[in-house]
Amino acid sequence: MSLFAAVEMAPRDPILGLNEQFNADTNPAKVNLGVGVYYDENGKLPLLRCVAEAEAQMQAAPKARGYLPIDGIAAYDQAVQGLVFGADSAAVREARVATVQALGGTGGLKIGADFLKRLSPDAQVLISDPSWENHRALFTNAGFKVSTYPYYDAEQRGIHVAGMLATLQAAAPGTIVVLHACCHNPTGYDLSAEQWAQVVEVVKARGLVAFLDMAYQGFGEGIAEDGAVVQQFLAAGLDFFVSTSFSKSFSLYGERVGALSVVCVSPEEAKRVLSQLKIVIRTNYSNPPTHGAQVVAMVLSTPALRAMWEEELAGMRLRIREMRQALVAELKAAGVSQDLSFVTRQKGMFSYSGLNAAQMQRLRSEFGIYGVDSGRICVAALNGKNLKAVAAAMAAVIA
Ligand code: PLP
Repeated sequence: MSLFAAVEMAPRDPILGLNEQFNADTNPAKVNLGVGVYYDENGKLPLLRCVAEAEAQMQAAPKARGYLPIDGIAAYDQAVQGLVFGADSAAVREARVATVQALGGTGGLKIGADFLKRLSPDAQVLISDPSWENHRALFTNAGFKVSTYPYYDAEQRGIHVAGMLATLQAAAPGTIVVLHACCHNPTGYDLSAEQWAQVVEVVKARGLVAFLDMAYQGFGEGIAEDGAVVQQFLAAGLDFFVSTSFSKSFSLYGERVGALSVVCVSPEEAKRVLSQLKIVIRTNYSNPPTHGAQVVAMVLSTPALRAMWEEELAGMRLRIREMRQALVAELKAAGVSQDLSFVTRQKGMFSYSGLNAAQMQRLRSEFGIYGVDSGRICVAALNGKNLKAVAAAMAAVIA
């Protein structure tokens, strides 16, 4: 009898399953809008010039790879703090923020979740309905009971703000609330500054623990604009968590570059928190890898490379925006009469298209256009070559 005889087959990741189906499709006109990555106008994953330039400089003076400190490269952690909290943030100046390098945004979330489990083992976690698939799994696997707060309002094509606030209002003190800082995945709908202010107020009044997931800083309105919610939490004097991912904003998916920052009330508290975060890291993977974080630290702290990155990031952001506008225009031209302005109100890589599961399945089987059954499509996978075909197919299944 094998040790593994009773091991059950785990369910397939639905998005990976979609990719496999896409790869097996022989339709030459097939388009994959199920992905969660940014493709350029040529349908290619970009290698940013700022990254190539930083790598060239690093290769010109190659260095041995010793172990990094448990919390990662100090210059990287510092650069993350500057980006997330602002170069002149009082919290950073006062050394009240504990930041550690992490394995992508997922790694940042996981370090935070494990630390929170030790701190508040009985706390509940609230995630948005719907949310990025891995939020529920990650916090559940960290040992938490995970529930949702209302978010997507299908009828209004927007956010169910009243429902969200009511759920937060009813949550027990200490409840951990996972919030998408910008470019909500999967819906694309973000709260306005006024709505964020209401969320901050409830979090403060109810003694909730905010965990901001910032996986798309710079993909919505701009670097500072997308980080504005962090300023609102800082201004409210709250202690809170922020996970950072550079997977999208640097197109460095495979390098696993991210971070976790915890805002504390004093430098002394931040030191104690940092010491605990380091234990979580040490007992999981000891210390993080060097390459990706070195690239990001170099780009963020070298003025010429930083300017190049900001320009390239703006290029990605604007291309996504153009694709949103072009999709709406093409759908109109293809005879869709319903109001589609919501597509251009959404932010970031994704759009909840409003199509139902049956329509998404028809898109796949009849037209070779692959999106998620929830109606989510990746706008960043649209380009001048596939746009007309995608719009025509969408128009056909909407009609
Ligand atoms: N959080 C959200 C909302 C995401 O959409 C993603 C990636 O798709 C992540 C976190 C994870 O980012 P990373 O790939 O850097 O782990």
